[in-house]
Amino acid sequence: MSDCLFCKIIAKEIPSKCVYEDDNVFAFRDISPQAPVHILVVPKEHIISVAELTTENSLVVSKCFEAIAMIAENEGLNQGFRVITNSGAGGGQTVFHLHFHLLGGKVFTDL
Ligand code: AMP
Ligand code: ZN
Repeated sequence: MSDCLFCKIIAKEIPSKCVYEDDNVFAFRDISPQAPVHILVVPKEHIISVAELTTENSLVVSKCFEAIAMIAENEGLNQGFRVITNSGAGGGQTVFHLHFHLLGGKVFTDL
């Protein structure tokens, strides 16, 4: 997707603070962190959101979560962490390439 911000970040056409990369997954620090650790974990394949997941493309989700477990350990989030994904404008999504927010380094008390 030529006009997708996260595809451009994955392709390194736009710089990011990458923390993890493999064949399927790219992870980088959020530009506007909402917690001491705020990392975006994205599949390299352009999938718009959770709403577009199918039997054919959903394997990348487990790849993302395997990466999340590794990154959380590397970041020292042994007290716990939170993973969020927003789907659609009504769900608060602003970048329409599937991504998981990995948030940690503080205690979350709300939902
Ligand atoms: P969402 O609102 O769930 O779609 O999340 C999009 C996230 O992307 C927000 O938390 C933004 O702060 C983050 N973001 C937008 N542009 C960049 C960028 N160039 N580098 C890193 N994070 C970004
Ligand atoms: Zn994309």
